[in-house]
This record gives sequence, C-alpha cells and structure tokens, in this order.
Amino acid sequence: MNNIKPATADSLLRAMAADGTVRCMAAVTTRTVAEAAARHGTSPTATAALGRTLSGALLLGSSLKELDRLTVQIVCEGAIGGITAEANANGAVRGYVRHPEADAPLKANGKFDVSRIIGDGMFYVTHESGYEVGLYREPYRGSVPIVSGEIAEDFAYYLSQSEQIPSAVMLGVFIRAQATDQAAAVEAAGGLMIQIMPGASDKIISAIETSVGNIPHTTQMIREGAGTRDMLRAALGEIAFEVMEESAVEFQCSCSRERAVSLVSSIDRTELEAMLREDKGAAMTCHFCNETYRLDEAELESILEEVKG
Ligand code: ZN
Repeated sequence: MNNIKPATADSLLRAMAADGTVRCMAAVTTRTVAEAAARHGTSPTATAALGRTLSGALLLGSSLKELDRLTVQIVCEGAIGGITAEANANGAVRGYVRHPEADAPLKANGKFDVSRIIGDGMFYVTHESGYEVGLYREPYRGSVPIVSGEIAEDFAYYLSQSEQIPSAVMLGVFIRAQATDQAAAVEAAGGLMIQIMPGASDKIISAIETSVGNIPHTTQMIREGAGTRDMLRAALGEIAFEVMEESAVEFQCSCSRERAVSLVSSIDRTELEAMLREDKGAAMTCHFCNETYRLDEAELESILEEVKG
C-alpha cells in the first residue's frame, strides 16, 4: 500500500484479490482519450481504436516502476495502418494512429467497427526499464497476431499466449452521436483487466467468469458515474479486493521545444543550410502528440553558427 494518490478526473487503479491469485486493474480515461482525439483529429472509429489502445496500455502497464515504459504497437493492414500507445509509471500515456481519418460505418448493433479499420496484423508489447538513464536494460518484447481487431480481445490473447496469464479485458470508448467536434464527443472511456495468476482456485475462476459475464459495458458504468473502484466491485462480484495503487492518468508527451532544437542541431550541416535557404526555417511535428515546433530563420542561423564552431 504505497504511493496512493487521490484520484482526480482520469485514474488508474491496481488491486489484488483472492490472496494475490487475481490481479485486477480498472481505468477511467475519458479526458485522456478526448485529448488524444483533439490532438490527432481522429475519425470516430479511429478515436475508438486509439482510445481502447491507450486505455489497454495503461491497464497493462499499471504495475510499471519508475523509469519503466510500456509500448503497445499494432501494425496492421486495415485503413488505420497502425496504432502506437506508450504508458509510463507516472500515469502518463501518449499515442497516435497512422491514418487518423480512417473510418467505417457503425455495426448493426450500433458499435464502432474497429476491427474493420484494423484488419490483419501483429500486436506488439515492449517493456523497457531504466530508459533515459544509465540503468537501461535489454527491453522485453512480446508479440502475437491480431485475432480480433476489437483490441480488448487482442490484449487478452497477448496475455494468454505471450505471458501465459488467462485474462478478461474490457475496453470501451463512448462517443456521442452526431457530434461535430471529436474531442467534445468523447463522453466516456475506460476499461478493466482481470488477470488469473497461478494458484487461483476453480471456485474463484468460475465466480469471476460469472460476475464479469454479467456486468454492464465499461462505458455505461462510467457514464452512470462509476469510478475505478465501482467498476472493479462490479467485475469481481462477491470477491473482496485490496487496492495496491491508485494514480491519476493523463495524456502527456515527453517532447519539448528544447528537444526539437537539439534534434535540429544534430542534423548534417549541408542539410541545415538547405533548410535555411529553401524553407527559411524548420518545422518538426511530434508523432505522439502532433505538436509542431517551428524554428525561424534566426534560430536556424544560430544553430548553424554553433555547428560550424
Ligand atoms: Zn510530443
């Protein structure tokens, strides 16, 4: 029971149940997904795909330690082309899709046809520790083929195949119909992950199967005002759980103007001179957050001076 911060708007909860044989996580990510949609201008279906992936990365990374980083990458043949989401131990998550305009008609049941824009492909999870400091260790990377394209099922398949952890995963993004502004339209987003560890009794497993099978959709619970604890209580039914950690979550990118400048400084001198001559400056856009950093003529000239010196 350490590092418990009061939950604010978006939050991530990690808990244990049944003497540690069940690990469970819940996340409310409405604002995070709304910000991702606003930054990338994603279509409704792409917002659902990105939002589910961001939420899943947070749930999967809920036990990350300081200086750890978890990246979920979907490389696919569907119109969206690919999705990347990266979470760290501090509840910061960032991510993007390759083709934000990719969209598809709603399915007959009114849900987003996420699997249509994903198609076939691969699902990768990379776990790095000690990044950006001298403690960097060999990253762990696991991969599975995409089995569903609805993303929650792909997280569950990854956990069962690559980490041998049978899991129930629910991820959802609820978007208000006929909204013109995608960010404002994200009304609820979040998810749940229940991992069955070795030693869990058959009684516990079957109780969880029953309770998970009967809960409302995660976004319905969130729209009705449920927080992460309420969601876990619903998912676990009668089984008591102990909260291990609760943290605030937000869309946050590690890029900055200083980093953009240092990146430009590392460019070859002839290329820098060409940029100055042809573009009268430089502009760099971060993939993860779509922020553009512009360097004007004077800034570029001073960088060139330094490179020459
Ligand atoms: Zn960025």
